[in-house]
Amino acid sequence: MPDLSEFGTLAEYNRKRRFEVTPEPRGGRRRGGGPRRAFVVQKHRATALHYDVRLEHNGVMLSWAVPKGPSPDPAVKRLAMMTEPHPLEYNDFEGVIPEGEYGGGIVMIWDRGTWEPEVPDVDRALARGDLKFTLHGRKLKGSWVLVRTRSERQWLLIKHRDAAASTDDLTVARPLSVVSRRTMAGIARAAGASARQLALAQAADPPRAPATASIGRDPARVPAPASTGEASRSTIESRPARRIASTRAKKRSA
Ligand code: MN
Repeated sequence: MPDLSEFGTLAEYNRKRRFEVTPEPRGGRRRGGGPRRAFVVQKHRATALHYDVRLEHNGVMLSWAVPKGPSPDPAVKRLAMMTEPHPLEYNDFEGVIPEGEYGGGIVMIWDRGTWEPEVPDVDRALARGDLKFTLHGRKLKGSWVLVRTRSERQWLLIKHRDAAASTDDLTVARPLSVVSRRTMAGIARAAGASARQLALAQAADPPRAPATASIGRDPARVPAPASTGEASRSTIESRPARRIASTRAKKRSA
């Protein structure tokens, strides 16, 4: 294996991708950006569906792949496989990675916001395999913990008991992008995905996702249920995702 140490913590990320083919960003490490640390959860239909939970730390996004997605139920422990750190620029990526490329499939920005460690020393908490933190997202809020299990890469993501805990299945109740309000199928269609990728995207949406509801075919025009508190339209328009190719999005923000 070539020596990639000069590329630092993003070496693995850069090694796995062909940036002349994939629309994903080529990222460099950035200086730590103040007290507000970014977090993002990207729903990713690759070989299998999973949710990539990423926490900003030391200029990169530490990443865990959670096959079933985060659960706000403290009784539910979700497997979280640690994956390679990603560049901060990745937080704005929503779209389609071409078939045959690493991670080929559909990526949705399922949630995002900021996070705070509940411990004084994040590096030490990571080394010990027990990181307690608070999320300030649109969907995920309150106190959580990532606990390492038997192997170096295998962790569990667990919600702590607090006011944000619930037994809701957020992956079903809140299935839309917090940036574009699209379904997975909507993202695939907007990016001109192949028929096979479109089918995979549709299968990754909950059965009752707005895209297939009888009230309309256009996910962008179907309001989320009031009780779920999806991002308001004005919030979306003021913070467009840079990498979403969409005539509709352009029209709305024009
Ligand atoms: Mn992934």
